Amino acid sequence: MSTAGSASRRWSIPLLTLAVPVGFAVWAFPDGLAPLRVAGIVTGWLGCGLLLVSLLLMLREPRLAAWLGGLERMYRWHHVTGIAAYVLLLLHPLALAANNWSSSPKVAWQTLSPSTESWQVWSGWLGLLLLMVGLATTFVRRIRYGTWRWLHALLGLGVLIGLVHLILLGIDEPVVPILAVAGAILGWRLIRGDLGLGARPYLVTSARPLAERSVEIALRPLGEPAIVFPGQFVLVEFGDGRRYRGCGEFHPFTVSAIRAGNELHLAIKALGDCTSKMLAIEAGVAARVIGGFGGLIEPRDAGPQLWIAGGIGVTPFMAVLNAGPLLQPTRLLYLYRTEADAAFLPELRAAASAEPNLTLHCAATGDDLPDLDKLLPDASRLSGTECYLCGPPGLVAALKSVLAARGVAARHVHYENFEFR
Ligand SMILES: Cc1cc2nc3c(=O)[nH]c(=O)nc-3n(C[C@H](O)[C@H](O)[C@H](O)COP(=O)(O)OP(=O)(O)OC[C@H]3O[C@@H](n4cnc5c(N)ncnc54)[C@H](O)[C@@H]3O)c2cc1C
Repeated sequence: MSTAGSASRRWSIPLLTLAVPVGFAVWAFPDGLAPLRVAGIVTGWLGCGLLLVSLLLMLREPRLAAWLGGLERMYRWHHVTGIAAYVLLLLHPLALAANNWSSSPKVAWQTLSPSTESWQVWSGWLGLLLLMVGLATTFVRRIRYGTWRWLHALLGLGVLIGLVHLILLGIDEPVVPILAVAGAILGWRLIRGDLGLGARPYLVTSARPLAERSVEIALRPLGEPAIVFPGQFVLVEFGDGRRYRGCGEFHPFTVSAIRAGNELHLAIKALGDCTSKMLAIEAGVAARVIGGFGGLIEPRDAGPQLWIAGGIGVTPFMAVLNAGPLLQPTRLLYLYRTEADAAFLPELRAAASAEPNLTLHCAATGDDLPDLDKLLPDASRLSGTECYLCGPPGLVAALKSVLAARGVAARHVHYENFEFR
């Protein structure tokens, strides 16, 4: 990774997040109005700009993701910009109402009240309400992922209605192009990401049980292969086979090995409805692949590395081991519930005896969060080490705080959560 490349990746999203809303606010900055009215207008435009950035960050395009520092980073900023936009858009009518308070409380209330105002205002409230429902779902873990996605999509509708609200208010000059851009981004995501128009066709050539409730699936490209590097993840949708019925959705899986002929290997653990079905997948099933994205482990300086895998989070580390000899001393701490549940144990033990740079430490930890204080190396052995973490979000969060407590700076901790919400 070049320094210029990594700098552009680090700064591209913050710059976009700053430039688009500030650009809107500067463009729309009104002269000669009361300060509160100015605040109302500016917060509206800042929120509008942030929403546009938030929409852009949910696109699933490999090149865009590479430029913006990875899909996972895009998701994190998608949430932050979405929430910031919502707060600003809530302040927008409040500031306008506060400005009207000087005329009379009744006029101030009329600015806010959807029942007494015209439906130009009403549409603004509807947009905000849909945004709120879409955003609230981000924090609700219990609803099914499919239901969550539909509810979260209300955000997109909220953005479109919010822009229509501006057009109804007669502010159509910059709004129509913004509406067109927002519509194009949403359409792009729907057509290329969700319906898979940007996906490459593949065929399942084999499926073998890997551990309890885990399966390894090999995929052969049927045309031009997706551009994937070891350790990256892809979005895959499986179609129907003779007995197998796909669930018609794209799911993220890390490529655990890339074999001759660009054959991709995925190790999949049954963690929900769709992945449970995948245990019964059979050769001959058609698949569609979008990606690759991300890459937890990138070639960095030659210092020692600590890899920590939780359960099926071992896949990016397997990918690096499968890609060739290790260049730096590497310690892999592999945490799983039970031996029967752990994928790739024989392969990892074989790699540890064949690979002089690899030290393997495996631990069956049961169902509860393990005692990380005991399992992690002490501070003196962590100094100068790059740490890579992959697994369920709860484990990754706990690992990050133990590493921080042992003096490992955040820039030396790299992680991938196996969850997108
Ligand atoms: C970057 C990344 C890499 C991953 N690599 C692997 C891997 O190598 N092997 C493996 O077994 N698992 C991997 N996962 C996890 C895997 O994607 C989920 O277990 C799977 O999507 C669950 O789907 P489900 O319908 O069976 O379960 P559900 O019960 O429906 O979902 C369980 C959780 O998985 C997530 N999820 C579900 N569907 C999707 C989707 N379409 N897109 C994004 N997230 C979704 C949601 O957070 C949800 O809460 C990875 C996840 C991510 C984000």
